[in-house]
Amino acid sequence: MADGDVPELTVTDPYVSTGRLPPSDEIDVMLASAHELYRDITRGEVADYIPVLASVDPELFGACVVSAGGREHSVGDSRHPFSIQSVSKPFVFALVCDALGHRKARELLGVNSTGLPFNSVMAIELNEHRTMNPMVNAGAIATTSLVPGDTAEQKWEFVREGLSRFAGRSLEFDEEVYESEAAANLRNVGIAHLLECYGQLYFDADQSTDVYTRQCSVLVDARDLAVMGATLADGGVNPITGERVIATAHCKRVLAVMATAGLYERSGEWMYEIGLPGKSGVSGGIVTVSPGKGGLGTFSPRLDAAGNSVRGALTTAYLSDRLGLNIYASEPATAG
Ligand code: GLU
Repeated sequence: MADGDVPELTVTDPYVSTGRLPPSDEIDVMLASAHELYRDITRGEVADYIPVLASVDPELFGACVVSAGGREHSVGDSRHPFSIQSVSKPFVFALVCDALGHRKARELLGVNSTGLPFNSVMAIELNEHRTMNPMVNAGAIATTSLVPGDTAEQKWEFVREGLSRFAGRSLEFDEEVYESEAAANLRNVGIAHLLECYGQLYFDADQSTDVYTRQCSVLVDARDLAVMGATLADGGVNPITGERVIATAHCKRVLAVMATAGLYERSGEWMYEIGLPGKSGVSGGIVTVSPGKGGLGTFSPRLDAAGNSVRGALTTAYLSDRLGLNIYASEPATAG
């Protein structure tokens, strides 16, 4: 598994295991019916640990599908801006993979769900926010610390510019969300200093946390998330702008880490029901990727107990099923 003394395979990727999305009219119908089905679901709570997030309209609900070929399909509040929060994590990890190589990134950041053996009792004790991979805060702050740049300002600019290339437009940053989180993020500051003690942070602790907090405050909408997801689905090339954002070889690794830990402690349930790599964030966004087919962005602020958007997860499950996206689905070769 690409250990230090084993030469890495030169993979030419001649074959992929994926197909294409169904025709456009089917996608439009399925998006509309998901919106209709779930818009009256009011389960869940809006996040309030970042004070300013608590003031969002909980009824907002939008979704967007962007195909790897650049087709776009939207429903509801798909252009309503919100702060990207943890949905930034896979994309910053992708940029760091591109800058350092995915092998080095794996060595420095880890890609397992707990970092401990499968039967470790200690893993259960330690699991709350202590896992080491780029989808949880410890791994994400460490990832941000690895972003190219000698100063916090340079690192922040690299992140903002990189996320913008994924989205295919220049993304703004929400100063109010940043100030609100920066005034209330002692836990993240603590995590960064703890990582520093363990020699697992690669830049100044306070400044790494600050850049990470800015990264979380970048403004996106559901359509942006769909384009960003579609870029990971399209071998690292943004299907709307045609720009290569990261090398093809990194996409499948980023998706693997999302599949492992993208939905907080519900990642197993998500994979069981939906069968696609995804990443959610506390402001109510979810990005989901169907490799080779496209990206799905959803936004609805009410969250379940684990922090995942309730309507977003329902919509994603519905579309995964109706559009045939689950990567584990098959049928007997004799069936047709
Ligand atoms: N900025 C948030 C934090 O680090 C992101 C949380 C999230 O979306 O999971 O706490």
